Amino acid sequence: MLIAGNWKMFKGAHEARMFSTRIRNLPSRVHGVDVVVCPPFASLQGALQGLGSDSAVHVYAQSVHWELEGAFTGEVSAPMLLEIGVTGAIVGHSERRQLFAETDETVRRRAEAALEAGLAVIACVGETEAEREAGETEAVLSRQVSFVPRHERLVIAYEPVWAIGTGRTASPETVQEAHAFVRTLHQAPILYGGSVKPENAGAILALADVDGALVGGASLDPTSFEAICVAAGEAVAA
Ligand code: PEP
Repeated sequence: MLIAGNWKMFKGAHEARMFSTRIRNLPSRVHGVDVVVCPPFASLQGALQGLGSDSAVHVYAQSVHWELEGAFTGEVSAPMLLEIGVTGAIVGHSERRQLFAETDETVRRRAEAALEAGLAVIACVGETEAEREAGETEAVLSRQVSFVPRHERLVIAYEPVWAIGTGRTASPETVQEAHAFVRTLHQAPILYGGSVKPENAGAILALADVDGALVGGASLDPTSFEAICVAAGEAVAA
């Protein structure tokens, strides 16, 4: 079970350090749960400092470039992340796809380069509301997943776009159905993302084909992030 907090463009270095200091011992209270935080680039080192050298909490970036270095203004490479102690990266988040022209092909390139360099990867897939209403969910997921490499350090996050940051969590039936479908396409563990919060985490994490959660808004508050990790621990123990 993996719980990853995607902080998006929230929390500067100071706040990242404070948050991380508070959750540094969380893994010892949630057996069987890998805990990950994904701060903005400028706050990665603050988070790592707050966790200290012996915390089991991992720090991932929110994206990573496919080249090792070069004229790619605004981008950060996998070796640069590894050098400071970052151990993974999200690729293909729907906000990157929708707002920053991320494509299936660039998602593939980012994921392959990150894995090759030694990072873990959370590769995001998910349909928009229009695609779901048009009955295209399975076609969209099939296409997106076909660009996701197979690797032991890769996990997929199923994040229906209409459920991200909207408060509209997908029903347990919808989540289970989508995860079971993705499971037929790829062997990686599958996280659910989309308005996960302490109140609904238990029901979602108990589903047969849900292996964890990628949490946005509710990961920004340490109390609610801890509560979701505790719910994950209970799902593992059940
Ligand atoms: C996300 O950013 O990946 C996400 C799922 O956000 P939220 O939990 O706020 O819907």
